[in-house]
Formats: sequence, C-alpha cells, structure tokens
Amino acid sequence: MPEPTQERLDAHRDHVRSVIASSAPKGESREGHRAPANSEVEAELRCWFKVMYSEGLSGASWPVEWGGRSDHHPLFDVITLEELIRARVPRTIDQVNLASGVLLKFGTEEQKAKYLPRIRSAEDVWCQLFSEPGAGSDLAGIRTRARRRDDGSFVLSGQKTWTTDGHWSDMGLAFARTSEGSSRHAGLTAFAVPMNAPGVVVRPMKTIGGVPEFNETFLDDVVLPPDSVLGEVDNGWSVAMSGLELERFGVGGTVSLLGMLVEDLVRLSRSLRIGDGMALDHDDILMAISNLDAEAEAAEAFVKQHVQMMLSGRDDEGGAATAKLLTTETYNRIAAYGVHLAESGTLEEDPDAELSRLRLEDAWLWSRALTISGGSSEVMRNILAKRRLGLPSARPK
Ligand SMILES: Cc1cc2nc3c(=O)[nH]c(=O)nc-3n(C[C@H](O)[C@H](O)[C@H](O)COP(=O)(O)OP(=O)(O)OC[C@H]3O[C@@H](n4cnc5c(N)ncnc54)[C@H](O)[C@@H]3O)c2cc1C
Repeated sequence: MPEPTQERLDAHRDHVRSVIASSAPKGESREGHRAPANSEVEAELRCWFKVMYSEGLSGASWPVEWGGRSDHHPLFDVITLEELIRARVPRTIDQVNLASGVLLKFGTEEQKAKYLPRIRSAEDVWCQLFSEPGAGSDLAGIRTRARRRDDGSFVLSGQKTWTTDGHWSDMGLAFARTSEGSSRHAGLTAFAVPMNAPGVVVRPMKTIGGVPEFNETFLDDVVLPPDSVLGEVDNGWSVAMSGLELERFGVGGTVSLLGMLVEDLVRLSRSLRIGDGMALDHDDILMAISNLDAEAEAAEAFVKQHVQMMLSGRDDEGGAATAKLLTTETYNRIAAYGVHLAESGTLEEDPDAELSRLRLEDAWLWSRALTISGGSSEVMRNILAKRRLGLPSARPK
C-alpha cells in the first residue's frame, strides 16, 4: 500500500485532534490509573471508546466488512496514538486490541459477527486470562483445565491472576489445557469466556499506586459451549503467541510517553531548589537529564524504524520485544531519576512543576509493572538474544 501524502497525514492528525477536543473525557488520564473508578466514569469511558471506533481512531485497520476503512494506512494509527498520548486522554485497552487481533485472525465468521460489533460499540470490554499464580513468563505451565463433555461443551476450572480490567470486563480471552499434548506447547486451547458466566469470580487487587487495576480470576467449573473455542482445540499456542506479539508492539508504540516524561523532568528541575542554588546549577543533574533525553530519543528512533520495517513488509525478528524493552526500561529510568531529584530539593511555588512531579511519581510507581506485563524485561532480552543475535537464552535463576 503506498504511503499517504503528507497532506493526508496532516489531515488525519487534525481529525484526531478535533475528535479528542469534542469527545474525549475531560481531565488528565494518569498512567497506572486507567481503570474507571466508578460506574459514571466507566460509562464515559465506554462512550469514548465507541466514538474512537466510529471516528477511525481505533479498529480502522480491520477488514472493511468488520468496520475497518478501505483508505486506512497503518501510519494513521501511529499518528492517532501520538495524539492520544500527547493530549493525555484514555487510549483503547491493550487487552481489547489483543482480543480483536485474535478474533480477526483465528475467529470463525460466526464468532467475528458475534463479538466484533460489540467491541466497536464498546458493549464488550475484553480482558486477558493468560497468567496464573504459577505460570506467567512460562505460559505453557498453566494449570487451568478445560474438560470436553460428550455434548461438545467444555468445563473450565483453574485460577488466573493479574487480570487487568477483569473487574469491569464483559469477556475474557482465556487459555486452558485441553490435553497433555506431545510437547508442553501442545494441548492448549483458547476460549472466549463471558465474565458473567456462572463460576467466574473476579477479585480485585490494588497496585502500588493504590488503585484496583488488575484482579485474581477464579474459574470454578465454568461451562462453555463448543463455539467458545478460538482457533483449533489443542492448538492454542499459536493464538497466544500472535496475541502477545501484538501486545508487545502496543507497549512499544507508546514510546512518545518518554519525551513527555523528559519534559516533566525539565519542568521539575527548573523550579527545584537544592541547597543555596537551583537544580540546574548542578552539572551532574544537567548531565543526567541530557543522558536520559538521549536514551528517550534513541528508543523513539528504534521504534520508528521498527514500524517502518513492519510497514514495508520487511522482517524485523525480535523487533517488538526490543521496542518493549527499550520503552519500558527507559520509562523506568526517567521516572526513577525524577523521583530521586524531587526528593533531593524543595520545589518553589510553581503549579506546573508540581504537576510534573506528580506525573513522574505516578510513572515511577507504574513503571516497574510495565517492565513485567506482556512479558518481563528478562524474557524480552532472551528473545532479543535468540532472534536478533543468534545467542542462547538465559534461564531463570
Ligand atoms: C501491570 C500488570 C498487568 C498484567 N496484566 C495481565 C493480564 O491482563 N492478563 C494476564 O494474563 N497477565 C497479566 N499480567 C501478568 C504478566 O504477563 C506476568 O506477570 C508476566 O508474564 C511475568 O510472569 P510472572 O509474574 O509469573 O513472573 P515469573 O514468570 O515467575 O518471573 C519471575 C522472574 O523470573 C524472570 N524470568 C522468568 N522466566 C525467565 C527466563 N526464561 N529467563 C530469564 N528470566 C526469567 C522474570 O523476568 C522475573 O524477573 C500483568 C502483569 C502486570 C505487572
């Protein structure tokens, strides 16, 4: 597909800005505080998601018969994400994007017709039921079982954990073991699970930031009809891997958060008094901020290059993992330095600097979670080592 002209890209950017101005929820969307705090905020958020789909800010790359746009180009998605981040408004939920990708790739026509329109209308929010107390990085180690009954239905039992947004989701994309399989990766199956099905119990957990972003999910003899299976029975590994690749790339795509965090760092340092002088009188602080800015720029350049390679159909083995690693680790370093800096001095009366301090603190509390969710940094380094460098991977200690 030919790249859109600069005029079309600019027109799309203007369109996104105008949709945000007219329809996005008011107030700043804080990183690590994305789940709605009450039913009113949830209704507002669902309304915003619906607008995003109808205005082409989300799901525009889907096939036209499922609501996508024939004139869509992936560069429009890059612009949309940049603008949503810059405006600090809610973005679509990673787990919903993951489920949509899986449905489009592996769903039958009936499943697509059943689920996709409800995603676009924001009637259904999906969560991801992969991780378990004893299986996260090693997804093949899951112990949730799905027993097939004579009538073709399945009975799921087990426990999932870290289910982001599970407490207000309508559907879950779950993985369960259906047979022992010839290898650890065989014998797994993907299921669409209504979160209100009898036997599904969701228990919220609070993050270090004090908000219930994720949950424990108990599956206690949950009966699912045969058409709940996504993809083939016992062949769910490829479904899981395709979903995770999407998730990792989604995190890497948020790389423009880094530049904004550096801006917060600069704003904070301009109004920070340390001893008799200001923070910016200290060479070591200037050096540290410049280094972090260089790291942010390098991460952004890598992600842009990765996007370009993907768009031109070139192979970029391990690129999504590297993008996730660079984005989340740099995010953590900038935020950690911001918190350390704020603690080294006293802020002068400056509401903008105070807001920047709060953002850096939020980012720091959330940043460790980002280096774990969707695959930990160690696992990303393993993928990088294996796929980009041809090295063996490390084993967990
Ligand atoms: C904020 C957040 C949201 C999440 N949301 C969801 C969700 O919605 N749905 C869902 O299913 N899951 C979710 N998760 C879970 C996430 O996918 C897992 O936490 C992640 O895969 C790591 O698994 P684990 O926690 O079991 O840690 P483990 O896999 O037990 O890892 C423990 C440590 O060992 C290291 N390690 C593991 N394997 C290797 C290896 N091969 N080589 C080197 N080091 C290794 C890890 O890096 C880590 O430091 C979320 C997690 C977080 C933090």
